[in-house]
Amino acid sequence: MALAAQAGLEPTDREYLMTHTHSHLDVSVDGKKVVVPSGIGIDIEAAAGVQSTPSLDGTSTEYYVTICGAPCLSPLHTHDASGVIHTESRNPHENPYTLGQFFTEWGIRLDDSCVGDFCKPNASVVLYLDGKKYDGNPAEIQLKSHIEIAIVIGKPPAVVPDHWDFGELP
Ligand SMILES: [Zn+2]
Ligand SMILES: [Zn+2]
Repeated sequence: MALAAQAGLEPTDREYLMTHTHSHLDVSVDGKKVVVPSGIGIDIEAAAGVQSTPSLDGTSTEYYVTICGAPCLSPLHTHDASGVIHTESRNPHENPYTLGQFFTEWGIRLDDSCVGDFCKPNASVVLYLDGKKYDGNPAEIQLKSHIEIAIVIGKPPAVVPDHWDFGELP
């Protein structure tokens, strides 16, 4: 849980849903989708309390937390590889966390110049929020409820995602 601490987030031993919002992240490089992994912000090596289950399509593993013996869950996390980012905090009315905090937990650089190893001006990096171009610092984007974030590196995909169907989520 070192990366969660580095992101300024306090892990707990279970899910707290006083604040519970979802946002969605798409990343593409030259039009090809990059998977946002499951288990970001979850101690998937925890001895007990973290359950892993294959995804329906069998291409990834999903992680869910019951009760761990020690803090194993950041309030900012992914359960599956769909790109849905969960904010689940024990503080009611928690302010939105930031995309920068999420990338810190992911262990990937994100700032004004770079996404991972892709840095301007050598690489083209463009961000979209709900389909609208965003010119600010990506790390400062607030993970507000149901926001769709698209990070387009290099050649854009045929269609830049402008929404996500959140449906019913745990
Ligand atoms: Zn959760
Ligand atoms: Zn959730």
